Amino acid sequence: MGETVIPLTDLRSLARVPVIPSTLAPPTGHLVDRRGRALRDLRISVTDRCNFRCSYCMPKAVFDKTHVFLPHDDLLSFEEITRLARMFVDHGVQKIRLTGGEPLLRRHLERLVEMLAELRTPEGEPLDLTLTTNASLLARKAQSLKDAGLRRVTVSLDALDDAVFRRMNDMDFPVASVLEGIEAALAAGLGPVKVNMVVQRGVNEHEIVAMARHFREAHGQRVVLRFIEYMDVGASNGWRMDQVVPSAEVLEKLRTVAPLDALAAATPGETAQRWAWRDGRGEIGLISSVTQAFCGDCNRARLSTEGKLYHCLFAQSGHDLRALLRGGASEAQVSAAIGALWQQRDDRYSELRGAAQATGGGPRVEMSYIGG
Ligand code: SAM
Repeated sequence: MGETVIPLTDLRSLARVPVIPSTLAPPTGHLVDRRGRALRDLRISVTDRCNFRCSYCMPKAVFDKTHVFLPHDDLLSFEEITRLARMFVDHGVQKIRLTGGEPLLRRHLERLVEMLAELRTPEGEPLDLTLTTNASLLARKAQSLKDAGLRRVTVSLDALDDAVFRRMNDMDFPVASVLEGIEAALAAGLGPVKVNMVVQRGVNEHEIVAMARHFREAHGQRVVLRFIEYMDVGASNGWRMDQVVPSAEVLEKLRTVAPLDALAAATPGETAQRWAWRDGRGEIGLISSVTQAFCGDCNRARLSTEGKLYHCLFAQSGHDLRALLRGGASEAQVSAAIGALWQQRDDRYSELRGAAQATGGGPRVEMSYIGG
């Protein structure tokens, strides 16, 4: 009663089947798009389902019993994911992140991890293979994921206060189980663990200091806590600019905990600005995708659960790679299509966000579908 129901604009079917280039240039590992950005990072959504209903991502009012998730036959199989991942790696991808939805809900995920862990870059290096999870199943699965070849995990946790967290995940899921998952990941050797907190004005901003204190005192350098500005992804969360807590404000609050020093980016295209506690108790990350857009060096591509390729988290339509795979295109043809699509890429949504909001923007695919 009294709940706001925001209709979900279903953009999942909006995808073009990519054109296969007439000449099939072999991959060089050095693709660049129209803005000179390299392709280095592939995020793969392995399921569009989640067992949480965070209001900023999959609000209950929209993702309710009537919401139709993708049928199993529509999902890419592990073999299809690995075939595509291999092509992306040949084009220069060095890092793969499994995401969703909640990736640990995909059955036998360890098998996929094993398959991806066997891939090598053109230089013969293994991939930086990682996963983002709400940690609800992590305590149970951390060791088997590590054994399968996973390198690291990122855990989402928006508050330490149990009542605040239960309200935010809207499934009454307790903080203690997430903390257990983090412990299990560290014990299995999946560290340092990144912990992501999405900060929303009036919802959990008062938890910033408690989160910072807890992780620097309990884990020091073994956990990197990252504060994410609440973003206008998808069309279902009713995002408003006044709900965003700018990273600059987060930093001010953190400085009340202990002195911090700025660190240089570890890798190009990194999403977080890095800060270190001066007393050596670890690192903090600030992800300012709203107030300081980082489209300029974005090197990420996203593969949806059913094989659609997106070049931007805020995209309105994708490129249907599954149609090529299942339509009988050869590996050389699919690979050439992926290369040509990256070379045509020109998007920079976050930099244009102000103008997009002013003109109404337009609907965007949901994060739970293309992967966070
Ligand atoms: N279920 C997994 C999890 O909870 O980490 C993976 C998928 S989730 C979509 C990936 C990340 O996106 C999470 O850290 C989540 O907090 C973040 N996220 C989702 N919606 C967001 C929004 N509107 N603004 C900022 N971050 C968001």
